Amino acid sequence: MENSRYQFSKLAGKLKSSMIRELLKYANVPGAISFGGGTPDPETFPRHELAQIASEIIEKEYKYTLQYSVTEGDPELIKQILVLLKRVYGIDGLSNENILITVGSQQALELVGKVLLDPGDYVLVGDPEYLGALSAFRMRDPQFLVVKFENDGPDMNMVEQRIRDLEESGQIRYLKFIYVVSNFQNPSGITTNLEKRKTLVEIAEKYDLLIVEDDPYGVLRFKGEFVPSIMKIGGIERVILLNTFSKILCPGLRIGMVVADKSIIRKMVLAKQGSDLCSPSLTMRLAARYLEKYDVLEQIKPAIALYEKKKNAMVKALEENFGDLEGAKWTDPEGGLFVWFTLPEKYDTMKMFRFAEQNKVFYIPGEAFRPYDQPSSSMRMSFCLPPVEDIYEGIKRLRDAFEKYRISGEL
Ligand code: PMP
Repeated sequence: MENSRYQFSKLAGKLKSSMIRELLKYANVPGAISFGGGTPDPETFPRHELAQIASEIIEKEYKYTLQYSVTEGDPELIKQILVLLKRVYGIDGLSNENILITVGSQQALELVGKVLLDPGDYVLVGDPEYLGALSAFRMRDPQFLVVKFENDGPDMNMVEQRIRDLEESGQIRYLKFIYVVSNFQNPSGITTNLEKRKTLVEIAEKYDLLIVEDDPYGVLRFKGEFVPSIMKIGGIERVILLNTFSKILCPGLRIGMVVADKSIIRKMVLAKQGSDLCSPSLTMRLAARYLEKYDVLEQIKPAIALYEKKKNAMVKALEENFGDLEGAKWTDPEGGLFVWFTLPEKYDTMKMFRFAEQNKVFYIPGEAFRPYDQPSSSMRMSFCLPPVEDIYEGIKRLRDAFEKYRISGEL
């Protein structure tokens, strides 16, 4: 532990500054092109509409918007969420008691950890996996059961093997849940296919496990077929669904949600009271009135078209600049914000980062998304922020950085 005059907790002692933050320190310097940040394009935010509604609800609904809310969340927003759940997922028959509004889905992840995990418990996660989920769960000191992510979702043989091993060693009761970002996973852009979703539910039923399905990107599909959610397949008793308005509206509102069995929601409400009493009334009501007035699924269409254009540019630029490199591969997602670019195995994208930085092009090394410390030859490339011309230029710089790294001998 670092030296300090303060007596921090054991947990605080384990907290490390985020690798991503460190790496992207210089990503904003003039002339830099960053594929690092996974934030949506601010030009897609409906700022004029939100500004108008904000003014109205502060003046006219101040008794709600400037006051504490109930911990469960704004009932007006929950009403809108129930409508959206039906439209997006075809999930019906839910009531207010199945919903908890959180401060971003990041808080939802933290609450999942708080109400389900004791130190030493197991959580099944992917390699690669969403870093924020790993960080949230790590607060509870669990053990990760890691399964490889293939092009169509988790490696199901590994899932079964890991779970069978736990059962044979008498540890299965400590496996609390399977975590999966079902659509256009952060970081890989991979969508778990229908067959694997069904198998996950079958396994969860066989071993009486919960599945935590995290789906911030599902509505950002620009082509291909909608895949039914794991919650739709497995039902509310088997699956906890997390979602957020960060990608379809804007992250600054910090509104996420948990959709789950009533008894799980009740526990999470108690846990949330200890964290922040309630989510901000002002942004909850702002989102509620926005959803009432506008069709968010229609409003988001131009943004989705823009992301598709940028994704196509990235994939084309990768083909043009890395198509000749044997063993290099990349995902070609049908939605979301990320492409996962993998170099031949002997290369380490963390070591290459220095060369990329010199060329003023930024990405996140795959190592950041591994549930254990191990080098990676992959990188997360977000296509949502840079303009199309910058995407082409950035990938060219990346190839140049790769060549410099390759001849440096620092493999
Ligand atoms: N889950 C996943 C898979 C994400 O990619 C993100 C955001 N990048 C989150 C949860 C958290 O989002 P928010 O807290 O903004 O809702």
